[in-house]
Amino acid sequence: MDSFSYQREIPVKYEVDVFVGGGGPAGVTAAVAAARLGSSVMIAENTGSFGGMGTVGLVPAYMQITDGVHLLCAGLGKEILDRLYGDKTGKYCKKMGIHKETLKRVYDEMITEAGIEYQLMTRIVDVKAEDGQVEYVILAAKEGLYAVRAKVFIDCTGDGDLCVMAGAGYQEGDENGVTMPSTLCSYWTNIDWKQAEGIDQSSYLGQAFEERLFEQEDRHLPGIWQVGEHEGGGNCGHAYDVDALNTTEVSRAMVHQRRILPQYEAYYQKYVPGFQDAILVGTADVLGVRASRRIEGDYVLSVEDYEKRAVFADEIGRYAYPIDIHPSMGAAQFKQFSEDYNKRYRYGKGESYGIPYRSLVVRDFDNLLVAGRCISCDHYVQASVRVMPGCYILGQAAGTAAHLAAAGGCTVRGISVQELQKMLAGNGCFLPNYRG
Ligand SMILES: Cc1cc2nc3c(=O)[nH]c(=O)nc-3n(C[C@H](O)[C@H](O)[C@H](O)COP(=O)(O)OP(=O)(O)OC[C@H]3O[C@@H](n4cnc5c(N)ncnc54)[C@H](O)[C@@H]3O)c2cc1C
Repeated sequence: MDSFSYQREIPVKYEVDVFVGGGGPAGVTAAVAAARLGSSVMIAENTGSFGGMGTVGLVPAYMQITDGVHLLCAGLGKEILDRLYGDKTGKYCKKMGIHKETLKRVYDEMITEAGIEYQLMTRIVDVKAEDGQVEYVILAAKEGLYAVRAKVFIDCTGDGDLCVMAGAGYQEGDENGVTMPSTLCSYWTNIDWKQAEGIDQSSYLGQAFEERLFEQEDRHLPGIWQVGEHEGGGNCGHAYDVDALNTTEVSRAMVHQRRILPQYEAYYQKYVPGFQDAILVGTADVLGVRASRRIEGDYVLSVEDYEKRAVFADEIGRYAYPIDIHPSMGAAQFKQFSEDYNKRYRYGKGESYGIPYRSLVVRDFDNLLVAGRCISCDHYVQASVRVMPGCYILGQAAGTAAHLAAAGGCTVRGISVQELQKMLAGNGCFLPNYRG
């Protein structure tokens, strides 16, 4: 491949205490946490809305928010849920379904109320870093390229783009480098939710496979959640063997998913009670990527920690969602996984695992944190902590820590973890092992 070197002068448009890259659940909570504590914050988001997978990606519902006893995503997570479900649309979302437009508005309000500088449709394309210090991120917008200088940077891109552009190490996939499949989430209408109540939406798949309704035998159907009076959010179908960091593969997966979704429409209409008149009205504009990079941090949160319900001295929160691995290949693997991981790693009431601050501190960097699904953990813990309530916990902790480092003029390792925990607990976060 031919190449050439390219150089140009670009403006430094913002100088802030804290820069947040990516505006998904982790990015919004990180930015809001830091700004409410008094830091000047700028957030750049690649799409036209905040919320990441939960809005632009059309992910239909929140997974586990409690350990059966305690609210784990307390603090900003609770505030977001209260704002979302306190709205009149909340009454339709019995099983934590997400009304997208309301959630987008909740995020918009929280970002603007906190006085955060925000730029949508703005992508991080490069980073200038030296000797473990990030100096600038380079952003691409309609106006062209420009830079942002900050004291502390938080990578909430889901894929760890900022960290990797800065030179951080990362891992991908399981022991064989295999990652979970992706899904293009979808939006549905004309559903009779009263009739659909209590129905196992996947229980008719066997018949449909016999009838060859589907081109691939995918037995893992998370399903369609209620998100409006007759509306549903769909998590249906998988795109296998897709490298989420390869645009060609992601492009093909989007086209593949749009092609197979009418097969789900035919399935629901023919077999599933309450869905006989259901219509697929739209698909997300971004592929639903469950897992890509995991950034190397000072601590790698592991499945052993998950199994022993670990407690850490530098704990910034606790979480309890099962290790929800979507198997990377069809039917046989799904059976093995659903009988093995998804059940073996299920907790009892009141049980949870701790998340250490060190999992957010990027190895070899002084002013760089990571939050969201790409924190420093193994493949199995990522399959738990990646869901949105987990990302709220991580985002608030990262934003609070970044504020402490920026305000104290120290590195992200130099902050007082006691002080961090005190602030998190003071702001409503669930920290049962913090004895302040
Ligand atoms: C198909 C699917 C179904 C899921 N189902 C559920 C569910 O039912 N319940 C649940 O709680 N969770 C679910 N999840 C998990 C959850 O939605 C995500 O793991 C979670 O949103 C991750 O949050 P995040 O903030 O780390 O990243 P994201 O939500 O991915 O947000 C990252 C943001 O960063 C932006 N970004 C990326 N790169 C750049 C860049 N270079 N420059 C600027 N911006 C950038 C993106 O546009 C995005 O808005 C699901 C995920 C998928 C894919």
